[in-house]
Amino acid sequence: MRRVRAAVTGAPGAPFTVRAADLEDPRAHEVLVRMTAVGVCHTDLGMRDSWPLHLTPMVFGHEGTGRVETVGAEVTGLAPGDHVCLTFASCGICDQCTAGHPAYCRAAQARNLSGGRADGSTPLSLDGTPLRAGFFGQSSFATYAVVHERGVIRVPTDLPDAVAAPLGCSGQTGAGTVLNRLCPEPGASLVVLGAGAVGLSALMAAVAVGCDPVVAVDPVASRRELAIALGAKAALAPGDGLVAALRDLTGGGAHHVVETTGRPQLARRAVGALRPRGDVVLLGLGGEVTFDVMGLLAKGVRVHGVIEGDSDPARFIPELVGLYERGLFPLDKLVTTFPFEDIDAAVAAMGDGGVVKPVLTFT
Ligand SMILES: [Zn+2]
Ligand SMILES: [Zn+2]
Repeated sequence: MRRVRAAVTGAPGAPFTVRAADLEDPRAHEVLVRMTAVGVCHTDLGMRDSWPLHLTPMVFGHEGTGRVETVGAEVTGLAPGDHVCLTFASCGICDQCTAGHPAYCRAAQARNLSGGRADGSTPLSLDGTPLRAGFFGQSSFATYAVVHERGVIRVPTDLPDAVAAPLGCSGQTGAGTVLNRLCPEPGASLVVLGAGAVGLSALMAAVAVGCDPVVAVDPVASRRELAIALGAKAALAPGDGLVAALRDLTGGGAHHVVETTGRPQLARRAVGALRPRGDVVLLGLGGEVTFDVMGLLAKGVRVHGVIEGDSDPARFIPELVGLYERGLFPLDKLVTTFPFEDIDAAVAAMGDGGVVKPVLTFT
């Protein structure tokens, strides 16, 4: 048992409160990780607001990075002192996991969103009562976490923590959508709707593999400037005439549109901005979108839903690290760091659009 500090959410939608809690030792296939940094993702905030009352109090956080402190008896391939990035949990044995698509693991709900381990237990407690954890297998808004070994990916010791943290969710979500799902040909046109961390990660990956043009759409001027700095040929505000402007920029419609905002009207405009037989990928957590079926079928549009970039983290995160090291995936340009205790300030900065990817650091 170890005393830790965790950002606790006491009830659905309640603010984060940093409190002392107790964390169990790792089980046979688990790893104890001392957190050095954790990204804040919109999913943390959206889930906090809609989280079921019976699974509170709860610790969120799912872009952790840190150092291995101890490993369970059956863990192979990880050792104390390893620098690691944490990612979503999967079972490793179902048809989706064995086919290399663990983001669609049959046990994804139980292992990522049940408030604990797949068996219903939680490694955290608060004054002797259960503190729900296991958010995306980690609950990394805490100084330490106990994580199943499949969610722990070793990274180079010289990789900055502020880069390693967002690799585990937003980085691989955006980049994996392009590199694992769309697999664009060099010279294909790609439009990103929403220049947040996911959208810009998709943009960087598209630029890295030679998509041309790559175009970003976002209402915030600083994000449009960042998109241009990262290699977008154009960056537009989502006003009237957007579809016509995108079709114009892409020579009659884009090969691929990646929709990250979750806004139904943008998802519909994404279809309008495609060329025949183009792909639209829906990544934003939103409500319902209605499409005109005739418009979809006449154009031969393919609509994709993608989570976690359809990535196999053990393979894909090292690939992204390689791109970062070659200067082709400069994730650091998206990051602003905040001390862990200032989690509220980080959330506020993300909310007004000024900060793309807040990363909390632990001292
Ligand atoms: Zn599985
Ligand atoms: Zn996320």
